[in-house]
Amino acid sequence: MRFIDEYRDAHLVKGVLDEIRRTITQPWVIMEICGGQTHAIMHYGLDQLLPPEIELVHGPGCPVCVTSLELIDKALIIASQPGVIFTSFGDMLRVPGSKGDLSSIRAAGGQVKVVYSPLDAVRIAQENPGKEVVFFAIGFETTAPANAMSVVQAQALGLKNYSILVSHVCVPPAMHAILSSPHSRIQAFLAAGHVCAVMGYWEYPPIAGKYQIPIVVTGFEPLDLANGILMAVRQLESGKVEVQNAYTRAVTFEGNQAAQAVINKVFQPVDRQWRGIGLIPMSGWGLRSEFYEFDAERRFNLGQIQTRESPLCIAGQVLQGIKRPSECPAFGKQCTPQNPLGAPMVSSEGACSAYYRYSSAAEQLNSGGL
Ligand code: SF4
Repeated sequence: MRFIDEYRDAHLVKGVLDEIRRTITQPWVIMEICGGQTHAIMHYGLDQLLPPEIELVHGPGCPVCVTSLELIDKALIIASQPGVIFTSFGDMLRVPGSKGDLSSIRAAGGQVKVVYSPLDAVRIAQENPGKEVVFFAIGFETTAPANAMSVVQAQALGLKNYSILVSHVCVPPAMHAILSSPHSRIQAFLAAGHVCAVMGYWEYPPIAGKYQIPIVVTGFEPLDLANGILMAVRQLESGKVEVQNAYTRAVTFEGNQAAQAVINKVFQPVDRQWRGIGLIPMSGWGLRSEFYEFDAERRFNLGQIQTRESPLCIAGQVLQGIKRPSECPAFGKQCTPQNPLGAPMVSSEGACSAYYRYSSAAEQLNSGGL
């Protein structure tokens, strides 16, 4: 398949890995921000194939993982109410809140529906005028345009029974937070191609300049990731600091301006709590006042939320790259995909689930390559 097969070509990937080996002279710590990239790295065993001087650290780019416990608990309260159809991407159903998850609400008779797009939720609202339909609008910049469009569409249709529970987070403030931490060891970033396809990468040069850290935008296939790592290593070895784009087939400097326009029409920057990490100022989007009527937090009386996180879960340290999932004492014991204690073990982009699923990736590589 065009744009897939050539980026999974083992011969080409090994050529780039050889070039990394020829270039590198000392240890470097590189963070891939995006959980999708973490899964690809583990799935293809790239971490096993890289020279030992490169330490890949996994970042917080898993929207399911960083959605705050308070918002999960709010989702559970809303979904439990009679007359509500609560819609969500499937990944959210098994994310543990303080008491249970959305799938347990559904098992108890709540109307929780998995949708593949917020526009499906708008359609459900049209078809069910006697019900309140709520969409759990989570995600990074990637999902924001469609979530914003759903509000624009609901307004155009005059729907009074549609609202969204907003938990949008943004990458650049998270990069600032990670790099400002006294625990940070990160020396270069791989930035997420799909986020940059929407937002471009015009926000990144000030970060590279302020923290003197190379940033390379790259994709999700093994060749994309290997090329991104090579470009980062070349910068690190030469002492250069700049933002480079290794994903030119999808990303431009300016990004998708129509998508950015609809985001800016509906959302405004707000402070956001990140699960396991805490409050990062102006790190999310919330609805603008013109769209408050679509805000589920305003529509439902949610009261005071008392959250309770598993004391065993160290997801915050995992999401900041301070510890690896395998360093969590509960990993694979009390915490498994069947019985997750934290969101990174549930999500298809979570680092803990990547470690759990692909722990045998190195064996696969040794027996047949990529
Ligand atoms: S393995 Fe489970 S308990 Fe440990 S950090 Fe990951 S999600 Fe939390």
